[in-house]
Amino acid sequence: MSKFKAIVVEQADGRHKASLTDFDEAQLMEGDVTVRVEWSTVNYKDGLALTGNAPVIRRFPMIAGIDLAGTVESSSHPRWKRGDRVVLNGWGLGETHFGGYAEKARVKGNWLVGLPARNSLRGAMAIGTAGFTAMLAVMALEHQGVTPQRGPIIVTGAVGGVGSIAVALLSKLGFSVIASTGRPGEADYLTSLGARGIIARNELAGVAKSLDQERWAAGIDTVGSTTLANVLSMTRYGGTVVACGLAGGKDLPATVLPFILRGVSLIGIDSVMCPLARRREAWKRLASDLDAGKLAAMTSEIALPDVIEAGNRIVQGSVRGRTVVRVS
Ligand code: NDP
Repeated sequence: MSKFKAIVVEQADGRHKASLTDFDEAQLMEGDVTVRVEWSTVNYKDGLALTGNAPVIRRFPMIAGIDLAGTVESSSHPRWKRGDRVVLNGWGLGETHFGGYAEKARVKGNWLVGLPARNSLRGAMAIGTAGFTAMLAVMALEHQGVTPQRGPIIVTGAVGGVGSIAVALLSKLGFSVIASTGRPGEADYLTSLGARGIIARNELAGVAKSLDQERWAAGIDTVGSTTLANVLSMTRYGGTVVACGLAGGKDLPATVLPFILRGVSLIGIDSVMCPLARRREAWKRLASDLDAGKLAAMTSEIALPDVIEAGNRIVQGSVRGRTVVRVS
């Protein structure tokens, strides 16, 4: 196949345009492994890249898609051979290197993680960058010594991809999860994932007090801005908050009081440049700690031509859980 289908984003005269295109294999970027992409997924960052709402893409034209799962077609990398099933997220995929919304990808072998035989490629993309990030967030809490005995954990943006998987993971690990959402109609969905309590997004949306009533032992925040500031101000003495998103804004209008008077820790998560050893550990943990039934229940499937519309919907905050993309 010298031509294949791809979602290509172009920028000309200040206009940002994503379209489904026939792409020539000869134009693929350098790499030592060629992968036949079977599945990808739609994350918030993909929405930003497709719509141009934030400067995610740093080279045009770009094949979008920050994740892929597929089968190695050819390789000159010592670790990979034809037929291996692989997953790739981050490392600039869909930002500086042609991404996962294409039937073919040529990438660096060092970026790839192998998929155990018992896991499906579709399942890996149901998890995707969002689920991988949720796992990194949970691992960061564990690293800080947060245990279920310490008290409840808040997850913000809970109906979204990172949020849904964080709720499911924490509940399976025995934590009492409080889910914060702007969609009260999704209360049953969040309860089915394991949330024990639900609070309205508005409760955390206003200007935060420097210190507020202590409500939770820890938090995973996907929203940023005043939401993260409120989460910090309501975290118990010695607690930990993990910041992994900016769905509500990239600012952080907070004071240092939670840190210096309550010993609260704020930990950052980056999935893109996460080192290989932690990547492998996160994917391994996801295989054991994420309930397969809950993952299936939160996942919907679309085809490659539907990706552009799905990108619009995710930046509007109207996608529930995870979306997998059937690429080929
Ligand atoms: P989703 O769109 O699936 O989830 C985001 C959720 O945030 C929404 O479902 C909604 O939850 C809530 N939300 C959306 N807009 C607002 C708003 N204006 N104010 C308050 N809450 C809002 O995105 P993902 O789960 O894919 O990603 C979540 C965040 O994590 C994004 O900012 C993304 O960029 C970031 N991220 C970071 C990574 C990293 O490496 N650090 C990797 C992956 C994602 P609800 O309806 O329940 O209120």
